[in-house]
Amino acid sequence: MAQETVFSKIVSGEIPVEKLAETERVLAFPDMNPQAKVHILVIPKTSEYENVTELAAGDASLLSEIVATAKELADKYADGDYRLIFNNGANAGQTVFHVHAHVLAGDLGESSLVG
Ligand code: AMP
Repeated sequence: MAQETVFSKIVSGEIPVEKLAETERVLAFPDMNPQAKVHILVIPKTSEYENVTELAAGDASLLSEIVATAKELADKYADGDYRLIFNNGANAGQTVFHVHAHVLAGDLGESSLVG
């Protein structure tokens, strides 16, 4: 089990967020430091996986559910097109070690690839 992070506190409700999508296994909420017009984080509720490499190996269907949720959010909040970013490892910009997808959409232009 990965260490407790800010995202496990969001899942438990200890830190309140605006829930933009929720299923039994997945939660989506706005990134507090948006890098695009639409910048949403999609996370699994479990804190078992630190990054997408572990998630893909451990539960591919949960990764699929995260991607499907990203598409639903891009349809709802933008034109359906979206950029999906997983930062994997501190040297790649990962700061929260509970796997999460950055969904960027809407007037992306030259927006940063880093969440
Ligand atoms: P990463 O750098 O890929 O690990 O992304 C972590 C992201 O989590 C950053 O874009 C932060 O802005 C975002 N973040 C951290 N804490 C919160 C929070 N309490 N609510 C919303 N977004 C957060």
